[in-house]
Amino acid sequence: PVKPEASLGAQAAAKVRTGSNDFSRKPRPNLGWDPSSWQSKPVTQDVLYGNEKALEAALAKLESLPPLVHANEIEKLRTQLAEASRGERFVLQGGDCAELFDYCNPDQIEAKLKILLQMSLVLIWGTHVPILRIGRIAGQYAKPRSKLTEVVEGYGEISSFRGDNINGFEPSDRTPDPKRLVESYFHSAATLNFIRSSLTNGFANLHHPNHWDLSHVQHDATRARYQEVVDKISEGLQFMKTVGDNSDALSSVDFFTSHEALLLEYEQTLTRQYNEKWYNTSAHFVWIGDRTRQLDGAHVEFFRGLRNPIGIKVGPSMEVSELVQLLDIVDPDFEDGRVTLITRYGADKIESKLPAQIEAVRKSKHRVVWVSDPCHGNTKVSPITKLKTRYVDDIMTELKHALRIHKLHGQELNGVHLELTGDPVTECIGGSQNLEDEELTVRYDTVCDPRLSLSQSLDVAFLVADYAAS
Ligand code: PEP
Ligand code: MN
Repeated sequence: PVKPEASLGAQAAAKVRTGSNDFSRKPRPNLGWDPSSWQSKPVTQDVLYGNEKALEAALAKLESLPPLVHANEIEKLRTQLAEASRGERFVLQGGDCAELFDYCNPDQIEAKLKILLQMSLVLIWGTHVPILRIGRIAGQYAKPRSKLTEVVEGYGEISSFRGDNINGFEPSDRTPDPKRLVESYFHSAATLNFIRSSLTNGFANLHHPNHWDLSHVQHDATRARYQEVVDKISEGLQFMKTVGDNSDALSSVDFFTSHEALLLEYEQTLTRQYNEKWYNTSAHFVWIGDRTRQLDGAHVEFFRGLRNPIGIKVGPSMEVSELVQLLDIVDPDFEDGRVTLITRYGADKIESKLPAQIEAVRKSKHRVVWVSDPCHGNTKVSPITKLKTRYVDDIMTELKHALRIHKLHGQELNGVHLELTGDPVTECIGGSQNLEDEELTVRYDTVCDPRLSLSQSLDVAFLVADYAAS
C-alpha cells in the first residue's frame, strides 16, 4: 500500500493547506520536471476541496491502481500523429463536451463508437488516407468554466457544474467531492473496457459495414449518400477478398481515448514511469484547454514532461508570439506530431487569425498536427428558446475556411475535433435535418455545450470528404 506521507497524492493535497490561489509560493529548488512540479505554479480553474483527508485518501487510492492505457499504445499514437503531421493520416477527434458517469452504459458507448466509425468511413472514402480516431471519451469528465457560479431558480447563486469528477449536475450536489476522482477512474475503466472488447470482437468489422445502420437519420439524402459510400467500400473489399487479401486490418480498427487534462491532481496520480519516460496513463491523448494554457501556469508545466502526444486549444486570444513560445516549451526536441494544435476561433475570426499562425509555426520548425475545432468559437444563445446552441452553418463555415486557408498556405488541414453524440439529440440548429430553434427543446440533453446529432455529424464528415475529393 502507498504510504500517504510519501505519496504524490499527499504532495498534491498540500496545495489545499496553503490555499490554491496562493501564487506567491516559492518555486521548487529542483528546476527539472516531475509529475508534481506543476504544484509550484499558478493553477487556473483550480478546485478547492474542503476535506483534505478525503482528498489524500482518493489520490493515494488512484496511485495504487493500474494504468488505464498502456505505454505502447501511447507510443503507437505518437507514431500515427507524426504521420498525420506529414499529411499521411487524417484525425477525427470527437465526443461529448462533458461526459457523465451515467453515459457509461452499453447503448450510449456503442452509439458514440458507431458515429465515429461511420464518419471515418466517409472520411476514408473522401480523403483516401487512413483515419486516426480519437474519442473524447473514457475520461472527459472535468470542465473549465467561464463563470464559477450560476443562478439556479430555487437555489440562488450556486457553484457551476464543473464536471462529474468534481461535483454533480444536480443543483443540490455542487460541492466538490474527492470521492468523485476515484469514481472517475472506474467509469473510465469500464467505458474503455467496453470499447476495447467491442472493437476486438467484430464491432468495427469492415466486412459488415451495414451493421452500422442509419435508422436514426431521418434525412433521406444523407442516408442515401452514406449507403453509396458503404456500397463502394464493400465492392472494394469484395475485390480484395477475391484476390486473397483477408488481412486482420479490416476486421478491427485502432481507437484512442482523450480528454482535457484539467484536474492535475488526478492526472498526476496516473502518470507513471516506463523506460525512463513519463506516460500519463489516464488516456492516450490529453489536451490543454483554451483557458488553462498560460505559459507560466501549472498546466503547461505538467504537460511539458509527458511522453503522450498532447493537444493545445488555440482560441482567438492566442497571440502568434505566445503560440511559438508555448511550442518551444512543450516541444523542445521538435518532434513530428508531438503537438496537435486544435484551433477554435469562430467562423468570423478564423480568417484574421489562422494565416499568421500557420506561417509563424512553419518558421518555428515545430511540425504540428493542425486540427480544426469548428464548435467552440461558435457557441451562441438561441434567440427563441434561449438555449446554448451552435448553428451547423457556422460550424461548416469555420471548417470550410480552415480547409481552404491551410491549402492556400501549402499544407493540408490534418483533422477535425467535434462535439458530437451518436444519440438523436436536438442541441445544434440546422444541418441537413433542418433543425429549428423551436425544436431545440425536443431532446436537449447536454449538461454543458451543445453537440452535433448523428445526422449533423455526418453532414460535417461529408463536407470534409467532398472538399478532399474535389
Ligand atoms: C472543450 O473542448 O470542451 C472546451 C472547453 O474547449 P476550449 O478549451 O477550446 O474552450
Ligand atoms: Mn465544450
